[in-house]
Amino acid sequence: MSESEDVESGGDKIKEGSRRHEGNRNDDSPTGDNRDVSPNDDNLNDVSPNDDSPNRPGSRHRALRDSKDFLESPIDLCINSIDQSEMIPLQWENYQSNPLFLKMTNTTNTVVLNGLYPTRFVPTLNGGPLPSPYKFVQLHFHWGERDDLGSEHQVEGEAFPLEAHVVLYKSDYGDYEIAKSMEDGIIILVYMFQIQQNSRILEFTKHLPKLKDPYSQIPLDTVSLESFLPPLIADYILYFGYMASSCKHGVFWLISRTTLAVTEAEMEDFRKISGSAGASIGHNFREIKPTLDRAIFMVNAEKDMKRVLHVLLQGKSQTAKSKGRRESKRGSRRASRKASKRSSKVAKRSSKVAKRSSKVAKRSSKVAKK
Ligand SMILES: [Zn+2]
Repeated sequence: MSESEDVESGGDKIKEGSRRHEGNRNDDSPTGDNRDVSPNDDNLNDVSPNDDSPNRPGSRHRALRDSKDFLESPIDLCINSIDQSEMIPLQWENYQSNPLFLKMTNTTNTVVLNGLYPTRFVPTLNGGPLPSPYKFVQLHFHWGERDDLGSEHQVEGEAFPLEAHVVLYKSDYGDYEIAKSMEDGIIILVYMFQIQQNSRILEFTKHLPKLKDPYSQIPLDTVSLESFLPPLIADYILYFGYMASSCKHGVFWLISRTTLAVTEAEMEDFRKISGSAGASIGHNFREIKPTLDRAIFMVNAEKDMKRVLHVLLQGKSQTAKSKGRRESKRGSRRASRKASKRSSKVAKRSSKVAKRSSKVAKRSSKVAKK
């Protein structure tokens, strides 16, 4: 299956004057929200929070997917744009099952992990907002040239160095390619990574140096999703966004609040992966698109919703601080190297001056003797 639809070069600029959803969503009064209440014809299009019936007048309930607007992904997740929601937990089946075959490929847009499972043992997700089961297809990554960019989604304007997309298709459609053309055919689970030492993806990233060349691929030891990815069950952000307004390829995005670890060495290996022209891919994340008035939900938050995004950012700012400390140490080392170079230059120059003046002195003493 092609990855090109998913990894798009971010050509679209955020429209100027686009209405951002800030401030006004702090309004907790039910009558303060006069958005349309859409009829419930499909679970995925409508979220029915337990404590907020769509039939209640002035409810905050809104359609997840607005078919009138082709709202795109990815987006910046701002606390003011997110509503809290309670749903039945997501349920995994075969999350611990080992594929018959597992391979990793450099598609020249990204690095993809594909597994071939026995039909009855494909990892499958159900529950939560899902009307029927979704089956695992593949997992791929998005990254950038530096640690302060790389992720497709952002949190309060901050990007992460790496973002993993776990792609699943609606089992009812029978096939990923068919599901892709359907509005509710694809869901993507999102995991953000922060620079930390205890990486659980080393099992794969240790092979990245072998995938530098375009279209190269390698078979891997078969491992279950469970061995390196915490199952997404609760505590996630849910929204709908098209891949691009041109392809009309709709995706329900479920973003884990739990971040995962990636080391700086692993990030360096991602950055050496070559694109089709043979040079490094550089970055493979798309530009942030306007949030506008779309519905975004924090589902089954394990912690206070208001703190949710701040917890995400807390870890990040700690990483940034320790990086800042390293940078400042590196900076001071660089400064002292520069200073010593400068003083040795000064010393050389003054010794030249001394030599020149001694020559002048000799010459003038010769003149005096004459
Ligand atoms: Zn992706």
